Amino acid sequence: MKEPENLDVLTSTQTVIYDALNKLGYPQEVYELMKEPLRLLTVRIPIRMDDGTTKVFTGYRAQHNDSVGPTKGGVRFHPDVTEKEVKALSIWMSLKAGIVDLPYGGGKGGIVCDPRQMSFRELERLSRGYVRAISQIVGPTKDIPAPDVFTNSQIMAWMLDEYSRIREFDSPGFITGKPIVLGGSHGRESATAKGVTICIREAAKKKGMDMNGARVAIQGFGNAGSFLAKFMHDSGAKVVGIADAYGALYDEDGLDIDYLLDRRDSFGTVTNLFKERLTNTEVLEVECDILVPAAIENQITEQNADKIKAKIIVEAANGPTTWKATQILNERDILLVPDVLASAGGVTVSYFEWVQNNQGYYWTEEEVEKRLEKVMVNSFENIYRLSQGRKVNMRLAAYMIGVRKMAEASRFRGWI
Ligand code: GLU
Repeated sequence: MKEPENLDVLTSTQTVIYDALNKLGYPQEVYELMKEPLRLLTVRIPIRMDDGTTKVFTGYRAQHNDSVGPTKGGVRFHPDVTEKEVKALSIWMSLKAGIVDLPYGGGKGGIVCDPRQMSFRELERLSRGYVRAISQIVGPTKDIPAPDVFTNSQIMAWMLDEYSRIREFDSPGFITGKPIVLGGSHGRESATAKGVTICIREAAKKKGMDMNGARVAIQGFGNAGSFLAKFMHDSGAKVVGIADAYGALYDEDGLDIDYLLDRRDSFGTVTNLFKERLTNTEVLEVECDILVPAAIENQITEQNADKIKAKIIVEAANGPTTWKATQILNERDILLVPDVLASAGGVTVSYFEWVQNNQGYYWTEEEVEKRLEKVMVNSFENIYRLSQGRKVNMRLAAYMIGVRKMAEASRFRGWI
């Protein structure tokens, strides 16, 4: 397939899916089925703002493929949300579910908005309005939302409440990432970062790198980035760089992570309290051993891929590295652990949450962590082994594993 356009996340992911299916020997029709979501709903949500005016927000919900089971994936609130992005994000969720072997397909939602500029009550109205707009196509056995960029357990709680009101019964399995008192799971909030931490540890072992004192730079200080900084710091690694939407901080002797976490606001902003700071893309090029992009798409591109000093990159964000940059990093022998594996800890514990909701019996944090550890280590090992055996990079190996179950399920259902 021809080279994808540099910053187009949908065509980039389609290119890798094409290559993965090709390597596995599947015919073209399988690619035709998987290259786009089966369904995409676009909604317009009128919201009464605090000043009395009405604003109409655009939202999406994409359902990539439900051959394996109900679709599953987060909802992001961000000004840059587009239809194409939501489609790509839903495909990545299918791949994650395949990689960590969950009985789900991929889904994703998004609303074009800037929650940093909205009040608490406006956010509540928007969250409820979104659920009313998509309620026909979601549900605990249809499509299960969760948090993503700039959404959190409070937003999940409003969405759950709205859904339960519409259906007229309590339905905790409709959404994951809920507060514990509403049926959330222990360990869900930190799950993405836990999964990333496990991938970092396993990647370091493969590279013969000692994690003690290893220098780590993290771009993004939201849910994934902030928990990860804490886990890295507590495990003896040195967090030398962190970045948020407004800038980055760097200290070769290691940053005071506990202090930064203490001063961070709910959107993960902290760097604007400091005068001396780098830009949030400069943090990608600092001297470090391990780099973790944990923010948004298209951060590592052909412009900066050859300036990266890290020997290991672990993608906590969805789609942070372009197709071209992946090739450059590969040639430079940098070990890149792809998003669809590294960030799958979140949806794994979301699955545990849904299982607990369905059975009405709740697990301890230790139980959740033990299961997550096992899933992540096995998934990492499978992908690493395949990448070595087939002499392909870890992204392509991850896609090969990610599409396989979906292709088989689609075949059994008679879709292909
Ligand atoms: N939004 C997260 C992701 O991109 C989690 C999705 C979920 O828990 O369903 O993987």
